[in-house]
Amino acid sequence: MKKKILIIGQGLAGSFLAWNLLEEGHSILIVDDRHTHCSSLAAAGMVNPITGKRLVLSQRCDELLPFAKNVYQRFETRFNRKFFESKKIIRLFRDAQELSEWDKKSQQPHLTKYYGEKKKAGTWGSLINDQLGSFFIEQGGYCRKLDLLNCLTHYFHETGCLRFQTFHYDNLKILDDHVRWNNQDFSQIIFCEGYLAQNNPWFKWLPFNHAKGEILELTTRNPLPDAVISCGKWCVPFGKNKYMVGSTYSWDHFDCQTSQAGRQKILDAIGEFIHVDFEVVHQLAGVRPILKDLNPALGQHPEYPHVKIFNGLASKGLIWGPFYARQMTDYLINNIPLDAQVNITRFTK
Ligand SMILES: Cc1cc2nc3c(=O)[nH]c(=O)nc-3n(C[C@H](O)[C@H](O)[C@H](O)COP(=O)(O)OP(=O)(O)OC[C@H]3O[C@@H](n4cnc5c(N)ncnc54)[C@H](O)[C@@H]3O)c2cc1C
Repeated sequence: MKKKILIIGQGLAGSFLAWNLLEEGHSILIVDDRHTHCSSLAAAGMVNPITGKRLVLSQRCDELLPFAKNVYQRFETRFNRKFFESKKIIRLFRDAQELSEWDKKSQQPHLTKYYGEKKKAGTWGSLINDQLGSFFIEQGGYCRKLDLLNCLTHYFHETGCLRFQTFHYDNLKILDDHVRWNNQDFSQIIFCEGYLAQNNPWFKWLPFNHAKGEILELTTRNPLPDAVISCGKWCVPFGKNKYMVGSTYSWDHFDCQTSQAGRQKILDAIGEFIHVDFEVVHQLAGVRPILKDLNPALGQHPEYPHVKIFNGLASKGLIWGPFYARQMTDYLINNIPLDAQVNITRFTK
């Protein structure tokens, strides 16, 4: 049976979910406050399968990464635009431990497709400080998430599925077998509101551990290699002599305001590994919606089955978003159980 579903938030989570539901013929209404509190707008767009000091492969990468790329390809066909750019990632070694992690991991047959060739110090000339050498992270790249979000916003709005306004919790009526908002009945409401879920009366009990982040957009006089450069901080190319660099992490103050301190932190950090003249043209800030156990949060309210959440995409919205939006869709429409690891029942049992 076709459903009428209310979605709060049109970041990556709400957009991917809404798209799936529309494709399956359901009727949706998305309410978004014009991205006033949107992490997806501040994301650098990096799709990086290997992160952290221990060079850890992103969870379920063999499944989630090809899934995401396939979804971006389908959006490209649909909107006749290029969204995903495959790019090598030059990962600079920072210490002996990282070199030893690469030695171990690059030997494992199931990991060789991600842990690419090692390069000796000095490979990247005077523009990049690679004094301990580097290696290529394979299979990653860059998603033009702003273009993608703009296409989706436009599409949802044109088709009457998106309303630009702030959703107020008080205006929601939860009835026995559906919910009512603005004099309209919906079979379900799905909250995809990013970090603001911390204020949601039905979900604020979840153990959030959000992290605010800032990034800078730069133009350089000389081009850097056509690759993402990463060493804790990163530099992502997204046009001729245009780069996104970042990012900061802070756990004590949540808003989407940029700061001078954030800007300086990024400039200090990238000055350590990129030696090129540049100009800062833009600064962005957002709050990554993160759960304490670092897994996404999908599922239904323990008392109100028509009230649901899709959140917690952390720093991985572009790799995780498409896969978990599919899982949320199958759960909503076909009652297919969610993975225990992402189901919010893990916090109530
Ligand atoms: C600095 C930074 C860099 C990042 N870089 C990357 C990266 O390179 N790669 C990557 O994969 N991920 C990255 N991320 C993480 C990524 O941004 C998130 O995983 C993802 O965007 C979360 O999407 P979301 O839809 O859950 O939340 P959001 O994008 O925050 O969307 C929530 C939406 O809901 C709206 N909303 C909330 N409450 C209401 C309300 N009451 N009424 C109406 N609307 C409401 C908000 O305004 C917003 O539009 C980065 C994050 C930050 C902050």
